[in-house]
This record gives sequence, structure tokens and C-alpha cells, in this order.
Amino acid sequence: MSRNGILVDYQYCTGCYSCEIACQSEHDLYLGQWGVKVIENGPWPIKDKDGNETDQYVYDFLPSFTKVCDLCADRTAKGKLPSCVHHCQASCLKYGPVSELVADLEAKPWQYLIVPPRG
Ligand code: SF4
Ligand code: SF4
Repeated sequence: MSRNGILVDYQYCTGCYSCEIACQSEHDLYLGQWGVKVIENGPWPIKDKDGNETDQYVYDFLPSFTKVCDLCADRTAKGKLPSCVHHCQASCLKYGPVSELVADLEAKPWQYLIVPPRG
């Protein structure tokens, strides 16, 4: 039987932090304890074609999964999606068998795959 994991498409992560809150709420975590933590990198000014800084800025956001994550084993045992996946409005998070997610991983850059031990 294939293990399960979450494919993270961080190219389209908006930094809304819904995944963090969904996990904290689902698992009643301590303050400052995270199953998934969104790393914010930036902002940097966007440069124009001549290399001059504009008044526009860009952020990078990276949802980072921790060792707390058990892939929402209680939810998935009932046929539900992991809470963070369910609440990601930007559809950056995809849950499923690793064998299927690897095919999606091959098809597009700016992604990574997380496979917790209990997946
Ligand atoms: S899969 Fe569940 S336990 Fe893991 S980060 Fe998402 S909400 Fe938290
Ligand atoms: S819920 Fe989705 S879009 Fe929002 S921070 Fe998490 S991964 Fe990014």
C-alpha cells in the first residue's frame, strides 16, 4: 500500500496562514507550536528592466511542515482531507498517495513533497 503525503505548490501560496490556524485548531496545539508554519521571505522591491527599484514589492511564502504533523490521521481515517488541505483557498496543498503525487511533482516546478512517518 502506498504511503500518503502532501504536495506543496509554494509558487501560488498567498501567505494567508489559514493552514497554520486550521492545524492549530484541529489539534489543539500550544501557542507557538505548529504542524505547518508559513515562512515569509521578503519583501523585496521589484526592479524594472534597467535594474532600478520600483515602488512595488514581492514576498515569497513557504508552508513548512513540522514533525508535529501526523497528516491528520484521525480525519483521513474518516475519509476527510487533512485540515490544512481542506482550508487552503489557493489549492496549494494536495493530499494523496505518494505514488500519485510524485507524478504531479514531476510535472511542475516550485513544489515539494512532504511524507510524514505516519502517512
Ligand atoms: S496535515 Fe493535519 S497535522 Fe499535518 S499540518 Fe496539516 S492540519 Fe496539521
Ligand atoms: S492556506 Fe494555502 S495559501 Fe494560505 S498560507 Fe497556507 S498554503 Fe499558503
